[in-house]
Amino acid sequence: MKLQYLGTAAAEGWPGLFCRCPACREAARRGGKNLRTRSQAILDDTLLLDFCPDTLMHMYLYGVDLPEIKHCLITHTHEDHFYTDDLKMRCPWFANDVDEVPFTLYGNDAMAARMEQLRQAERGEVFTLGIAWRELKEYEAVEIGGYRVTPTIAKHNPQEKCFNYIIEKDGKALFYGHDSSLFEESVWPHFAGHRFDLVSLDCTMLQRGPAATHMNIGQCVQVRQRMLEMGCANEHTLFCINHFSHNGAIDAQGKVWLHEELVPFMADRGFMVSYDGMAVEF
Ligand SMILES: [Zn+2]
Ligand SMILES: [Zn+2]
Ligand SMILES: [Zn+2]
Repeated sequence: MKLQYLGTAAAEGWPGLFCRCPACREAARRGGKNLRTRSQAILDDTLLLDFCPDTLMHMYLYGVDLPEIKHCLITHTHEDHFYTDDLKMRCPWFANDVDEVPFTLYGNDAMAARMEQLRQAERGEVFTLGIAWRELKEYEAVEIGGYRVTPTIAKHNPQEKCFNYIIEKDGKALFYGHDSSLFEESVWPHFAGHRFDLVSLDCTMLQRGPAATHMNIGQCVQVRQRMLEMGCANEHTLFCINHFSHNGAIDAQGKVWLHEELVPFMADRGFMVSYDGMAVEF
């Protein structure tokens, strides 16, 4: 499988919209891998993970062939992962020669409720013509576009049942852990029996203290350790941190941690550091 990260920042991007903090200023000055758009990824160029406000930019920059894509997993309904305004662009006039097979979103009950609301608020035909959706249940594996997809419960927005995903195909397995803080105890038994080849973890808080809704570096290290101990990861498993906030990039001593500082620091801890456009084969 190939996971390509398209966007690797939290909701405001990094440099953040309107932000003048040192982490944003320095990221803008250095550019390159320090310019991070909102969270999105794609598996094998076919299965989209989240529909963020920078989807259009990801088409331009990384050749995402959106007209050909049929399936999109939604982790939760925060707007950096589920930007419904752009879904309307699949309706006639905005999009021509659209495939008859709908673009199908898969996600939690909050996603399904939002889509239903939109169907009623907008002219119904807009959505029935081009967009479909399917509500998934936690820990119930389903077949989506040739992948076996199992939603697990994230620890994130208490207002909704946020999902992480186990995605398997041809003996390979990905754990996509966005967005989540340290998983509740009840989640761990559901990892047992899986052997992950790539684990992508939420490291929004980076060098800052742990949060209830996202992880920092220390918490990502804890998750890796526990996965290794319980056998759902081994020495071949790739671990990668992702979904970064500028707010986590300034440590207690005032040092700014950008991509160039994070890469060697995280390599010592067994992690890769994602950047926009990075592809990982596993
Ligand atoms: Zn997010
Ligand atoms: Zn900032
Ligand atoms: Zn979120």
